[in-house]
Amino acid sequence: MTDPQAVGNRELAALKERYRFERERRVRPDGASQYQSTEAEFGYYAADPYAGEVSEREPLRDIVDVAVIGGGFGGILAGARLRQQGVERVRIIEKGGDFGGTWYWNRYPGIHCDIESHVYLPMLDETGYVPEWKYAPGEEIRRHAVRISEKFDLYTDALFSTAVTSLTWDEASGKWIVATDRGDAFSATYVVTATGTLSEPKLPGIPGIETFQGHTFHTSRWDYAYTGGTPDGGLTGLAKKRVGVVGTGATGIQAIPLLAEDAGHVYVFQRTPSSVDVRANRRTTAQDVAADDEGWARRRRDNFLRIVSGETVEEDLVADRWTSSAVLLEKLVGSFRRHGDPAAFEAAYELADAAKMNELRTRVEECVTDPDTAEKLKPWYRYACKRPTFSDKYYPAFNRDNVTLVDTADTHGIERITPHGVVVGDTTYELDCLVFATGFSVGTSGILSGKLPVHGRGGTQLLHAWAQRGPRSLHGFTGNGFPNLIQMGSLQNAASVNFTHVLDEQAVHAAALVAAAEARDAVIEPSCDAEDDWIATLAKGAPDHEWFHAECTPGYYNREGRGRPNGPNSYPHGAVAFHDLLARWRETSLDEVLQVKKGKERTR
Ligand code: NDP
Repeated sequence: MTDPQAVGNRELAALKERYRFERERRVRPDGASQYQSTEAEFGYYAADPYAGEVSEREPLRDIVDVAVIGGGFGGILAGARLRQQGVERVRIIEKGGDFGGTWYWNRYPGIHCDIESHVYLPMLDETGYVPEWKYAPGEEIRRHAVRISEKFDLYTDALFSTAVTSLTWDEASGKWIVATDRGDAFSATYVVTATGTLSEPKLPGIPGIETFQGHTFHTSRWDYAYTGGTPDGGLTGLAKKRVGVVGTGATGIQAIPLLAEDAGHVYVFQRTPSSVDVRANRRTTAQDVAADDEGWARRRRDNFLRIVSGETVEEDLVADRWTSSAVLLEKLVGSFRRHGDPAAFEAAYELADAAKMNELRTRVEECVTDPDTAEKLKPWYRYACKRPTFSDKYYPAFNRDNVTLVDTADTHGIERITPHGVVVGDTTYELDCLVFATGFSVGTSGILSGKLPVHGRGGTQLLHAWAQRGPRSLHGFTGNGFPNLIQMGSLQNAASVNFTHVLDEQAVHAAALVAAAEARDAVIEPSCDAEDDWIATLAKGAPDHEWFHAECTPGYYNREGRGRPNGPNSYPHGAVAFHDLLARWRETSLDEVLQVKKGKERTR
């Protein structure tokens, strides 16, 4: 009799070998430096196509209570939560021409959020809004960002089409001087940074890219003036055009089906296929939400977070491909809660991962008629190596006569771009239009970019200090030497696939810090000891997933194949436990970060 365990082991070994082979085909010696930023001669790719003409204004020299850097959901939520705490002058500074962040910039055809709208859209309870679709189109999400901003009066003091260029702590006034690229130098008692993670579009450094004479743009700056249509399609301007798309990540797989509907011909230049799971989008039903039931959205969002953080629940309210595959995200979300014996967990994980990826490869065969094309579209890596994607339209697009898949794995991507097209192997593909769905620079926005120097007490530059001693914070938010500066983001904080939930918890925390400092007439600044304790907490029990990322196919999750350092970058016990920890800390220990202002000691 055949031993099923032995068969299972043989299959797993064969898969592992295939994954290794596919990875080796794709690792490039230049790693992350294969990309170039959308600056200088490529600045055109990052220009704002939606803002219209930006009107001149006088530079500001006034004083606000809180300056919030970034007008995406992080900044909007910070603003809203500060308003709920009664803070009056909140000024959000945003590079784009309106609120929305990611959803302001990304308006490409087919854009939808992959996370269920009822848990992704924040403040549904507070605004009374019920999303129309299980997975919302980008425009509905952008409008919700505007809705929250209007409800909490965030437009009054906002600065759009403005980038903060430096933050300098002024000891004499006890305020931050906020300088911008519009000549502003205003003062703020507190600064909250909410600059996002994937906001700077990047381009591949393909030789000859600058010589292309056809029309070209990045998906995060979609040129509807050229293509015609809207995010819902109708791209009539492309009717007779040969369109090339570089990139088949979460963006490419959403845009390609709509391009295919209208363009003369679409060439999809693929380097690594995405895993594309069932989407099954549909209108919101009464069963999905209980909108007349107070707090329904919060309960649903908490339920989703528990599942994707590895916590146990009685009922899966969202019941989609994220929740059914939650355990497979364990290596990605470094803080996923494991249960039971670690060896048994690992063995079960391996089997579940293989089964899921086999299911997804079979899906390609079922959806794509040409076997050669289907073979090239199959993802050969573990589930969490690349961002999972979801579409019911992507694979069928390859059954159309006007869509050609060009696999570039053997040539490490497109080899060359000429004035009239793209070269892969021996073939030149003549194109009228070239669309880059090539993603975003990672960790290069805001303070971490180095383009926004922060000078704290005594002129200490934050990034210089971190370069010497490593990043330091209490809970990821505040740091010694940088009074009244509150950072939002995932560094030394918690991560989840539902990032707006994490941002909302951060916004609540930031607003509570400000409110407490105002009430006590104090400055927010943790001690060095508090930072040391937090870093020790992060290091304790951090799971070792370095091997996993080292074995993965290249991508931005593993620094293009170089692996991911396993440093203590986020709270190791999961987002749910982290949020509980923060809530308890606010109840019992918040006063520890409040320093009495100089000259006020005796009055307290
Ligand atoms: P990605 O970085 O995920 O994808 C970039 C694509 O460009 C990859 O397919 C990459 O191939 C390809 N590429 C890069 N260089 C070359 C080259 N020289 N030749 C050929 N191909 C090349 O960017 P996306 O914009 O797709 O997604 C970024 C992130 O944005 C997602 O991971 C997700 O977090 C978020 N997102 C979320 C959505 C949502 O619904 N919530 C929707 C869309 C995006 P390779 O894989 O080989 O590197």
